[in-house]
Amino acid sequence: MSEAKRLFFAIELPEATREEIVRWRAENFPQDAGRPVAAANLHLTLAFLGEVSAQKQQALETLAGRIRQPGFTLRLDDAGQWLRSRVAWLGCRQSPRGLIQLAEMLRAQASRSGCWQSPGPFHPHVTLLRDAGQAVAIPPPGFQWSFPVTEFVLYESHFAGGRLRYTPVNRWTLST
Ligand code: ATP
Ligand code: MG
Repeated sequence: MSEAKRLFFAIELPEATREEIVRWRAENFPQDAGRPVAAANLHLTLAFLGEVSAQKQQALETLAGRIRQPGFTLRLDDAGQWLRSRVAWLGCRQSPRGLIQLAEMLRAQASRSGCWQSPGPFHPHVTLLRDAGQAVAIPPPGFQWSFPVTEFVLYESHFAGGRLRYTPVNRWTLST
């Protein structure tokens, strides 16, 4: 029997966007504000699945493959900090409907498949800093990264080579 994997659905950020965000972060947050998320790991989670067996993963992938939804443009133009979860984040002043619909669909499928889902609303965000337990000054408005979202990705989260990695397991195209 294969071991369970720690899985989540997310939107991948284009590499150039990740690099720009990392540069902006270095210039706009103090060094000691928190633990920066590696450029390669910047992503926007749609649904967290937790530890999933191979069988359940197969069922979740089949359901994900049935989603028919158009793509959308994601504009990251907001930032903030959640002291309770000790993170600083990037988000959208206005979340695209397509993003919310996609996340709700994946969260509903996960829930029906027996993956625990937090009952609260979905707060789309890209985590920038972890362990940010002290209030930090949020960079002034004016930043913005926009990109088309044409697919969503299933990632495995695992430690390898002494660091946390997110490895794409499968991806699905959003129809145009
Ligand atoms: P670490 O836990 O080592 O600090 P991480 O949170 O990035 O790193 P994971 O815990 O594997 O790594 O999480 C993968 C993704 O799923 C992240 O975007 C994380 O915020 C999100 N996530 C993790 N746990 C939950 C949860 N219980 N509910 C919602 N999203 C979660
Ligand atoms: Mg975590």
